[in-house]
Amino acid sequence: MTNSLKNLIHPDIKHVLDEIYQVSRNQKIQIYVVGGFVRDLILNKSGKDIDFVVIGDAIEFTQNIHNTLPVSEPVFFPKFGTAMLQYKNYHLEFVNAREELYDPSSRKPEVVQTDLLSDLSRRDFTINTLAMDITPKDFGKIIDPYNGISDIKDKIIRTPLEPEKTFSDDPLRMMRAIRFATTLNFKIETITLNAINNVSQRLEIISQERITDEFNKILMSPQPSIGLELLDSCNLLNQFIPEFVNAKGIEQKFEHHHKDVFYHTLQVIDQISLQTDKLHLRLAALFHDIAKPKTKRFSEETGWTFHGHEVVGEKMTSSILKRMKYSNEILNYVKKIVRLHLRPMALVNEEVTDSAIRRLLFLAGEDFEDLMVLCRADITSKNPKKVKKYLKNYEIVVKKAIEVEKRDHMRAFKSPVDGNEIMQKFNLEPGPIIGKIKKFIEEAILEGTIPNEHDAAFEYLLKNRACFK
Ligand code: ATP
Ligand code: MG
Repeated sequence: MTNSLKNLIHPDIKHVLDEIYQVSRNQKIQIYVVGGFVRDLILNKSGKDIDFVVIGDAIEFTQNIHNTLPVSEPVFFPKFGTAMLQYKNYHLEFVNAREELYDPSSRKPEVVQTDLLSDLSRRDFTINTLAMDITPKDFGKIIDPYNGISDIKDKIIRTPLEPEKTFSDDPLRMMRAIRFATTLNFKIETITLNAINNVSQRLEIISQERITDEFNKILMSPQPSIGLELLDSCNLLNQFIPEFVNAKGIEQKFEHHHKDVFYHTLQVIDQISLQTDKLHLRLAALFHDIAKPKTKRFSEETGWTFHGHEVVGEKMTSSILKRMKYSNEILNYVKKIVRLHLRPMALVNEEVTDSAIRRLLFLAGEDFEDLMVLCRADITSKNPKKVKKYLKNYEIVVKKAIEVEKRDHMRAFKSPVDGNEIMQKFNLEPGPIIGKIKKFIEEAILEGTIPNEHDAAFEYLLKNRACFK
């Protein structure tokens, strides 16, 4: 591979880099593009985030960029020698060339200014140690002191310096190693992987927010199971979701055994990732069976059962997601999908009646499609006959749901009669009775006694007014 990326750079980006270079020349300061942007260029991906290393004062340099070019208002982090701004479509970040001196007794390293090569040496992985020249003479030339280009070509993740020290200094790098292995589908080189195993316990000094941020990137990759298995085998996963690690293993009693919930879940996540890029829904896939180990019972007649795992699962999901600092919006969504995940397929065991479908549409509301995407991904049997049967059932529910929804519009259910009208027509004061009347109508609609319409609902109320006296 040539060590100039000149021909891979889009003219728009070239233009931005030329402008930045002009400012640096006037200020007599050296700057380089570094890190993920250069790595991704070599992988033929063009990002919108561009990191620059400034051999000098990044804050002052960014101030100069701001004075010279029509960029957004910069955000400065003087403590970290970092500044960022938006220019055209690009997010630009400027960092002082720095070295970090770690004292094991303290979490915060001492930061000192340095030159380009020392700055590259403190970066996490060889694939992230590349710098790119942006001077007109050598535009696109790569500075590659740790053979990063060759590691990118060979799809290898390794640290530029001694791995145990690298991870122990900043244990978030362990999560980042696994994140890159998953998103790029690279292998972590053996010595580096062993080092993660050896110092995995150090993850405890990292804030949950930063762990969750990397975890999300793993979940958002094309095949999250790669990262989840690595997190597990390196003893990282048990530090932030031990409940999931508990789902490993199969128990055999007589001729009965159950699925390994951990590996089933990995398969469900990979399957759902082919269908959706929604983090929320991928999290729901991760948690849908989380309570199976806790609710597992054995009966000689029926074998293994997991009664109530969706209810216990909802509670467990709630406490895990809170602990992992997910937003309330994500929490409520995932709880709901976990609670309802068995409902669609359970319907087919009975007869798929309109009223059962109506109730499900009402409960799932706008998340009905997502729920069905999970149910589809949840079909993982190795037995082709079973898969065929489940898929058939799935299709029955989908078909019926489309029919019922078209007719009854249950997903955006809003009572067809409003409280004020009820009070007026029946001469009632505000109070719990109004809620009861609305519930009475809701039930009648769900049961299919009346259609989801205003006039029909009122007629029904008039006919049954004796119930409210
Ligand atoms: P992406 O932006 O695609 O997630 P990236 O490699 O650009 O990946 P950033 O977090 O944007 O990651 O960081 C930019 C660069 O800073 C990295 O390429 C790496 O060189 C360096 N870096 C980031 N975090 C660390 C860390 N914890 N330890 C050492 N170097 C780091
Ligand atoms: Mg980046």
